Amino acid sequence: MECTCCGACCVAPDIAALDKPLGVRCPHLTEGNLCGIYENRPQICRDYAADRLCEEIAAPTLDERVARYLAAFGFEEEAARNRAAGVTSMRSARLKVVA
Ligand code: SF4
Ligand code: SF4
Repeated sequence: MECTCCGACCVAPDIAALDKPLGVRCPHLTEGNLCGIYENRPQICRDYAADRLCEEIAAPTLDERVARYLAAFGFEEEAARNRAAGVTSMRSARLKVVA
């Protein structure tokens, strides 16, 4: 399937190459849900391809899409803890969030 630039995969998953914690919006994602560093985005982002999951999480708002993405992997609680703790890096997630 085609990527609809819905933005969910730039918010929901943790991305080590960007030190981006689970459920935290990538700082490079623009307000229009496009990549702000598209030409220089890391390899993991280049390799990511739209698949059936994109259809399964489709929803009107980014928040809903992210919630569905996280739910598909059972990561809602961990993501909620990250957001509640205000973590901005994977390291701070490990330090601040008690599992
Ligand atoms: S979740 Fe899928 S449709 Fe949405 S931006 Fe990522 S690849 Fe594209
Ligand atoms: S670097 Fe770009 S493609 Fe990668 S997660 Fe951030 S906004 Fe998305």
